[in-house]
Amino acid sequence: MNDIENSNYYVEKIPKENGDHILHREDCKKIPTPAYREYLGNFDCCEDALEKAKQIFLQSNGCIYCSKECISSKTEKHMR
Ligand SMILES: [Zn+2]
Repeated sequence: MNDIENSNYYVEKIPKENGDHILHREDCKKIPTPAYREYLGNFDCCEDALEKAKQIFLQSNGCIYCSKECISSKTEKHMR
């Protein structure tokens, strides 16, 4: 269908303690079960997915496992 590496992205419906809704790629091992995530769409980078996530949850943030490039929070950034 296409040869670009697009992936499905999801955002967690339940925020973390700091209020972040975490963005995940579909193949992430930390992705929550379907009841606890919202489908965002098919994107070729997490930046676009995060934009979309922020339309649903204003405070959305990348996952440290699958979307490290998109983390903007200081709390999780130094976990590496
Ligand atoms: Zn993830």
